[in-house]
Amino acid sequence: MVLAGGIGGARFLRGLKSAVPDAEVTVIGNTGDDIHLFGLKVCPDLDTVMYTLGGGIHEEQGWGRADESFSVKEELAAYGVGPEWFGLGDRDFATHIVRTQMMSAGYSLSAVTEALCARWQPGVRLLPMTDDRVETHVLIDTADLDDSVQGDGGESRKAVHFQEYWVRLRASVDAHAVVPVGAETAKPAPGVLDAIADADVILFPPSNPVVSVGTILAVPGIREAIAEAGVPVIGLSPIVGNAPVRGMADKVLSAVGVESTAAAVAQHYGSGLLDGWLVDTVDAGSTQDVEDAGIRCRAVPLMMTDTQATATMAREALALAEEVRA
Ligand code: GDP
Ligand code: CA
Repeated sequence: MVLAGGIGGARFLRGLKSAVPDAEVTVIGNTGDDIHLFGLKVCPDLDTVMYTLGGGIHEEQGWGRADESFSVKEELAAYGVGPEWFGLGDRDFATHIVRTQMMSAGYSLSAVTEALCARWQPGVRLLPMTDDRVETHVLIDTADLDDSVQGDGGESRKAVHFQEYWVRLRASVDAHAVVPVGAETAKPAPGVLDAIADADVILFPPSNPVVSVGTILAVPGIREAIAEAGVPVIGLSPIVGNAPVRGMADKVLSAVGVESTAAAVAQHYGSGLLDGWLVDTVDAGSTQDVEDAGIRCRAVPLMMTDTQATATMAREALALAEEVRA
């Protein structure tokens, strides 16, 4: 069983599938990044997993569809209808239309995800963390928003949708807090707790520890179920050489008071959750810190340069799982 965000989670899953093609893999996907745009429900992380494993992903970009065109977006812009900062291509639009149409007809997000996966055949069972609405918001200074209207002096901070922070502002301003709005009353989607209880091993891929894995763990019941599953829980560091490999995880880590180091992320999850942690070989010097925190730690190459390298990472994670199980 794997908890996954978008790009990091999806690429790791491709390596895992290649390493153990016959394993039954259940993926719990982050839905805190979901956003409503143009009346459509968009689930960026679920779609990244589905497209990556289903062969439809834009490889270089890591998200969105390959061979994409942007006519719909251009036509919307001609009407002055935005936002323009969120890239939705024509092929991608179809996914969001189908999803929204089914949800309007009363289907749950998990039922819709299953229906979308019937086309893409990702080779894993993809479950949203919850069928309830959760939206990650980021607290920033209003002074950092150029188009913002300042209040009468009183308010100086504002919560913006995670996508606005990440995509529009490119995480260029400080995040003071990250709040998964709605998480506290959300219920795990059908099948999620059973999948955790039935798992042989639970993996945290190199996904964002705050806004991907952290959001999934914020759904009441999920963290507890993982901690009590009684099977090895192994994570792979998304931080290599004291910086995220891709993206801006350092910004949201600092918002939750965690240093951007492989060891600090392991300690953030903690030994109550993690049994084992893989750091990159460049961070080999930090394995002792992690072990001192009660988490078995190994340094192995963690760059997902191609499927083969990623498959090797997956094998290392499974080997560490067997080591802690013994
Ligand atoms: P997102 O939802 O698209 O942001 O994707 P995830 O949350 O699944 O993963 C984002 C994380 O993946 C970032 O923090 C990156 O540092 C990490 N990441 C991306 N590529 C690699 C890689 O090749 N190796 C490692 N170790 N981490 C990576
Ligand atoms: Ca994401």
